[in-house]
Amino acid sequence: LREAKKGRGVAYFNRELEAAYMERVKVLAALEEALREGRLVLFGQPIVDLSTLEAVAVEVLVRWPREGGFWPAGAFIPLAEESGLIRELDLYVLRLVEKLPENSVWHVNLSPQTLRDPRFLKAAARLRGKRVRFEITEYALAEGVEEVLQELVEMGFELALDDFGQGYASLNTLIQYPFCMVKMDRGFTAGLGENPKSHAVLRASLSLARELGLELVAEGVETQAQRAWLLRLGYRFAQGYLFGTPQPITGSGTSPLSFPSPG
Ligand code: C2E
Ligand code: MG
Ligand code: MG
Ligand code: MG
Repeated sequence: LREAKKGRGVAYFNRELEAAYMERVKVLAALEEALREGRLVLFGQPIVDLSTLEAVAVEVLVRWPREGGFWPAGAFIPLAEESGLIRELDLYVLRLVEKLPENSVWHVNLSPQTLRDPRFLKAAARLRGKRVRFEITEYALAEGVEEVLQELVEMGFELALDDFGQGYASLNTLIQYPFCMVKMDRGFTAGLGENPKSHAVLRASLSLARELGLELVAEGVETQAQRAWLLRLGYRFAQGYLFGTPQPITGSGTSPLSFPSPG
């Protein structure tokens, strides 16, 4: 009886795994098709000055239209990264960014694989003259992209370190790479008014940033209380649902729709 039970368990486990795998294969094929057909769109979320609430920049976030709404990037970017499709996706996003108005500073997220793609620098060069700041997460930096980052700076772009303090936080990152801005992971913002240690990290990071000549942005601000805390700590810039949720900035294909006034 025991053997039989164990056998069924294994078979069941295998079916589960297989189903999960088939699901991934299906989602990936659908994403590939959406990309090929130019159906992914760009949303934008403002980065604001905490005291005036004016938008100082807009972060570009990719969206996958589906019936009744959109999949947020967080729902499919990990799969795109695992499969390598992320490089096509990022290059697609860069082509759409080419068409965005020139009067804003655009933050564009990049994956590590894209930074190392031989087509990337050529695609970036087409954005010359636009005010573009590339957002790069810490984990992207472990893999020998120093020269590419340096090249981007020489091309006139700026670099922001994304989700700082989450995952592979290394202070050396701030010294080694030419960042002008650091985005503090939203976990710290969430701890405001709850966890004294979050206050300590946000405060100490601010003085570190001052010494290093870096701008700081607090991510994930959702409440007025958090905004008040950040102002009291001395933060100047922030981003989060409190100031504006991501809103459409381009339609599908290549024609950008009018840009909504943020804030
Ligand atoms: P991220 O760059 O750290 O972007 C912030 C994410 O947090 C976005 O999710 C945004 O919608 C969400 N967010 C903004 N404000 C708040 C808030 O107040 N509270 C909470 N809980 N969440 C907030 P999204 O759009 O799902 O993007 C997830 C991640 O996917 C991004 O994290 C970024 O790393 C990546 N991503 C987005 N677009 C692209 C892209 O075009 N290329 C690449 N390679 N990655 C992208
Ligand atoms: Mg980002
Ligand atoms: Mg972030
Ligand atoms: Mg993130």
